[in-house]
Amino acid sequence: MSEILSVRDLCMSFYTSSGEVKAVDDVSFDVNSGEVLGIVGESGSGKSATMLSIMGLAGSAGRIKSGRIIFRGQELNSENIKTLRGKNISMIFQDPMTSLNPVLRVGYQLRESLKRHNWQGNINSRVIEILERVGIVPAAQRVNQYPYEFSGGQRQRIMTAMAVICNPELLIADEPTTALDVTVQAQILRLMRDLRKSLGMSMILISHDLGVIAGEADRVIIMYGCRIMERGTRHEIFYQAAHPYTKGLLRSVPNIESPRERLIPIEGSPPDLLNPPKGCPFVKRCPDAMKICLTRKPEESAITQTHKYSCWLEAKNNA
Ligand code: SF4
Repeated sequence: MSEILSVRDLCMSFYTSSGEVKAVDDVSFDVNSGEVLGIVGESGSGKSATMLSIMGLAGSAGRIKSGRIIFRGQELNSENIKTLRGKNISMIFQDPMTSLNPVLRVGYQLRESLKRHNWQGNINSRVIEILERVGIVPAAQRVNQYPYEFSGGQRQRIMTAMAVICNPELLIADEPTTALDVTVQAQILRLMRDLRKSLGMSMILISHDLGVIAGEADRVIIMYGCRIMERGTRHEIFYQAAHPYTKGLLRSVPNIESPRERLIPIEGSPPDLLNPPKGCPFVKRCPDAMKICLTRKPEESAITQTHKYSCWLEAKNNA
């Protein structure tokens, strides 16, 4: 499989009135053509900030301090991302109500996207076609309605239509089903799966929900405290987890294969990003923490070619 996106040594911060908030710390990964890369992490883990950096949407407070983002061999910057955004790389956001403009008809919003990217073809036909494709029917009538006239699930379908209307090569879905109830969530995930396969898109799926990631992702990255803690194939992460944080996450969610097992929460709270720990970001919550974890960040070590984790335990086991 060929790489479509490469992120290398990315460091990004937000500058607030309270000071610098480190949001992404030395993050590197690839997305291969046609695959779904799942990124898991709690709020503040750096997953959304990484995606905003890729899309050039970190805002005036966000600044990429170092690192490279390469899409199809081209290094992205604040200028060329504007041409690629929406056309080659698209993003679906968490909250469809705030992502759609409430005072503009959905048809107008979809047409704008096509016009912006000089769609070569009949714009009105494409809008009807994509609305039908995502199940908004009868599309010819509904195209004239406002966002408030649709349910939450329908609005997320419209957001999905907007994201794929220009046939992007890479779709980034940031918690696309968080605001939806479970049955609608399953419908949206099925829709995104169908669209991805029929359009041949690659996808980065961001979620704090391990169940969603287990059902959709080919490979998985676990983030915590702005850094990557573990990465591997779906099987490696869900059945052979090595990092104490990943193990803790898996113990804290229900497992259908062992329904009587007690759920064990991860005690404590995420690190203060205004004052990040010097060593491993998980040190204050880690049951295996050692002295070295307080002062030095662990390097990533490989368990297999695809399975890697960042933890001093690896060095201790090999000592
Ligand atoms: Fe725990 Fe240390 Fe490993 Fe961090 S490096 S996860 S604190 S054992």
